[in-house]
Formats: sequence, C-alpha cells, structure tokens
Amino acid sequence: MCAPSVIEAALSGMSRRDALHFAAGMVAGAIGCVSCMATGTNCSAHDAPSDPPPGGPGAKRMIAADKILDLTHTLSPTFPIWPGNEPIKITNKSTFAKSGFYSNRWDIGEHHGTHLDAPAHCSANGSTAEKIEPSSFIAPAVVIDIRERVKKDSDATVTADELRAWEKAHGRLPKGCAVCLNSGWDAKAGDAKAFLGTDAANKLHFPGFSKGATEFLLNERDVAGLLVDTLSIDTGSATDFPVHKLWLGAGKWAVECVANLGKVPPSGATVFIGAPKVAGASGGPTRVLAMWG
Ligand SMILES: [Zn+2]
Repeated sequence: MCAPSVIEAALSGMSRRDALHFAAGMVAGAIGCVSCMATGTNCSAHDAPSDPPPGGPGAKRMIAADKILDLTHTLSPTFPIWPGNEPIKITNKSTFAKSGFYSNRWDIGEHHGTHLDAPAHCSANGSTAEKIEPSSFIAPAVVIDIRERVKKDSDATVTADELRAWEKAHGRLPKGCAVCLNSGWDAKAGDAKAFLGTDAANKLHFPGFSKGATEFLLNERDVAGLLVDTLSIDTGSATDFPVHKLWLGAGKWAVECVANLGKVPPSGATVFIGAPKVAGASGGPTRVLAMWG
C-alpha cells in the first residue's frame, strides 16, 4: 500500500541514492512501493514472483545512481558545425539591470551542438522530434570503445564484430539500449578543423558506425538509439550517408556530438536524452545525461 503520506515520510528518510532510485524508477515505469523499499518488506507492487524476467517481455526497469555525468557539449557560436551551416546566433533581448529579468533570442539550426536526429531527418514518413516515444529516451547505455583504432585511422567505424565482442564481455545488448560510440573525438571539439577532420582537399574525416554494424543492430537486436561523439553517425568521409538512411529510415533516433563517453562504464549506465519537443522538428539541441552506480 503506497499512500502519499507514507511515500513522503519514507522519502524524507532516504539517501540521495535511494531517492534517485525511487524517482528514476517512477519515471521509467518501474514503480515499486517506497514504504516497502524503506522497510525491506514486499508488496504486490513489486512482488518478486510476479516480476517478468529481466530483458523479457514487459520487463521493468529500475534505475539507481551514485554517479551522474553530463554528456553534453556547451553550445556556443564557436562549436564545430557541418560545413555550410550558420553557427548559433545569440542576441540579448533584456538585461537584469535594465528590465529586472535576463533573456536572449537564439537563431539556431536543428543539428547544432549535442543534438538529436529524429527519424524524419532522413526518411520521408519518419517521426519528427515531438512524436518520438518518450520512454525510448531513457535507455541502458552500451559503450563501444574504438579509441585505439581511431589513433591510426580517422575514418574508423564500429563493426558488427566489435558489438559481438562487447556482448562476449558484458552479455547480450539489453533491450531498448542506446549504443554509444566512444571514439575519443569529443576531445577535439574546441578545434573545428580537427573535429571535422578537414583534409587538404576539403574532405571530412571522423569515425562513425559501419553499415554492417547498423544492419546487425537493426535486424538482430532491439536498440532504441545510437549515440556518437562525432558530428555524424556516418563517417566524415561518407557521401551517401548509408547509416543515416538505414537507422533513421527504420524509425530510430540518434544523438550526435556527445561528450564524455570515455568516463561512462562500458555497461551498467543509463542515459537520459533530453530531446526537444518542437512541432515538426527534424532534431534539435539535446541535453544528454548518464547515470550509474
Ligand atoms: Zn544531426
């Protein structure tokens, strides 16, 4: 029995970790009875025998965290953007000293900074940002580290074999997970030329997902979205954007220009995608957080 007064009383005696555990559980739909969590007893809300198996149909998700990490770059007019785009323009509209409140106007493309690609970005009938299923934005994080290969090859891609190797070490990709490409590229974000990997012929070079890995994730696993620390889920050298077409064309979302994946454990973290809810948006600047522990 979870009367509001009982929940309030129990929360007041909870640690930050427990409170997050409870709050995140509520968000994720894993609603347990907090009075029972506090006293260690069971109730019908989370009776172990009636719980579906982990990862199985109707599985609940419980989220706990000691560590919360921002995976978002600070967006400013100097943040690297795709060639031909305009940087964000920030115009002050009121100052606290003059008006008693502070506000700006932004003029910004949808694919600036750490940002969402909605399915509609690369598919005629794909969902725009506001129509994406929100529960997919809270996902177990699967971090694939290709930093060593990237040191020798700026055009390196995540392969299906690397995904299988991750599974060998950590188990099958969790249902509804977000597969995160850690190429170490976020360290270059302060230098637009390096981040774009622009060569003498003005061609771009940075890592991304391979077509084979994308097909494996689409056809053989149940993945919510892709995260990448470069400007695109395709490599910089890609001209026909096969990964965008496949992934977004299948109704999936992606987040590009993610930061700090090197600090996230390869498995066990949860990511929260604070995607914009603008009508008809093909994407938009997004706050991304990871939590674990
Ligand atoms: Zn984009």
